[in-house]
Amino acid sequence: MRFILLIVAIVLGILILKQLYGPRKKTGDNKLPPSTAIIRCEQCGVHVPKDEAVESAGKYFCSDEHRKLHQS
Ligand SMILES: [Zn+2]
Repeated sequence: MRFILLIVAIVLGILILKQLYGPRKKTGDNKLPPSTAIIRCEQCGVHVPKDEAVESAGKYFCSDEHRKLHQS
């Protein structure tokens, strides 16, 4: 009987820990605000937030260097 109670206590402990850490992990993964659009670099294809991207003639690049490379 004690053994069963021990298992129940462990399972409950795991469930409580999951409840505590579950929502925290979810918010940690979502660092970017939902309004931030992700664009694709025309030169190398890397995905970067639009705020950090370089725009040129309606096209987006991950860096100023790639903007120059694409135009040349
Ligand atoms: Zn690039």
